[in-house]
Amino acid sequence: MKPGVIVAALLFGCPALGYAQTVPVALTHIRIIEGTGAPPVENGTVLMQDGVIVAAGRDIPLPPNTRILDRSGMSVLPGLISDHSHIGQLQGVQTGPQFYTADTITAELAQYRRYGVTTVTALGNNVPRVFDPMRKDAHMGLLPADLFGVDQGIGVPKGAPPVHVAPDQLFRPSTEEEARQDVDTMAAEGTDLIKIWVDDFDHSLPVKMDPAIIKAVVDEAHQKHLRVAAHIHDLDDAEHVVAAGVDILAHGVRDRFVPPSFVAMLKERGIWYIPTLELDEATIVWADQPAWVKTPFVEAGLSAPLQQQINNPVWQQENRTGSKADFARRSLATNLQNLKILWTAGVKIGFGTDSGATPLRVAGVAEHRELALMVQAGLPPLQALHIATEAAAALLDLHDRGVIGAGKRADLLVVAGNPANTISDTDRVVETWENGSAVTGPIPLTTR
Ligand SMILES: [Zn+2]
Repeated sequence: MKPGVIVAALLFGCPALGYAQTVPVALTHIRIIEGTGAPPVENGTVLMQDGVIVAAGRDIPLPPNTRILDRSGMSVLPGLISDHSHIGQLQGVQTGPQFYTADTITAELAQYRRYGVTTVTALGNNVPRVFDPMRKDAHMGLLPADLFGVDQGIGVPKGAPPVHVAPDQLFRPSTEEEARQDVDTMAAEGTDLIKIWVDDFDHSLPVKMDPAIIKAVVDEAHQKHLRVAAHIHDLDDAEHVVAAGVDILAHGVRDRFVPPSFVAMLKERGIWYIPTLELDEATIVWADQPAWVKTPFVEAGLSAPLQQQINNPVWQQENRTGSKADFARRSLATNLQNLKILWTAGVKIGFGTDSGATPLRVAGVAEHRELALMVQAGLPPLQALHIATEAAAALLDLHDRGVIGAGKRADLLVVAGNPANTISDTDRVVETWENGSAVTGPIPLTTR
């Protein structure tokens, strides 16, 4: 496969917006991984036109003017969907509110798309003045990936999240009344979800969110028909927020193994659980330097300052050990086991990594690591891919994507090999399609 074969041959097309009609295009002789968890369709065809999938499967009749792209030896899956990322928080190895700009965010979305992530959820710490118009543009196909999210989110005075953000990027209400007003403000901004932070970050913060505030936020959000996602780390907090009516756990439980009562509560209430396994791996892995961090696939996603930092032996030494590294290692180990328990029990699992929140959580790369870690936790590759596509869309209440089927958005990730058997084949990115156009070409393949 020569990279030159892959071209953005088609004009952007989306009939709903009245843009130019496009010719039908078909990917042929390709393995179709539908996103549903069903076994792949071998030697299939995906026919697209005007930004949507017209038909997919075996023996699809093609209109006479179809542009045919032979994709023998490759697999196609729905574009990946992140349920928990962040945008505009950083540049290189620096973080701060000065990076919340349209330029930074557009570059981040382009990187997500390059790695096959075609829908991004920015779960809080957004500046509405910048975020709200960009979200609209993204929905119209004017940005490199589609964008959803929590506008600001609700934190705690002198507590979580321990981030350096501008006052317009986050609420820290001290009364129930203020909390309700903050929810109303976000509702008026068109937020997709509400978020709360319930954590003391390994006892490094003096307070956690007051239960009365949690209750007020959930009540107000539900009155506005908005669901609430909660940042948690500990089992106690997860149990508390679920009992208080929270709809989505934005991280895995990482201090203890989940007991059957908790599993039953999540199932009974239909709570979504986003493990974010990669979050803790990212804290240690750049210092540990396993072989995969040196692959061209990963290095293509690292800025020069970040490469310089993680290649510095002093930095590696400092970050490999110590309380922060130990905490991350323990959290990851517990998180992996809890995911297996909850997935086996049939709890609804979403897909997220917290990518973009810190320089070490690298947009796009993180999502590919999350897939690998889900498989490491014991999930079959097909199920990990289902979580990253159809399930991730369902978490967001999006029914127009996440599956390769007639009428769905033609957001696709084409890779070499068969990720249904070997999850790391997802890293062998050939091209990303968005709205029926091939928009990015191959990422250098890993040596294997
Ligand atoms: Zn987050």
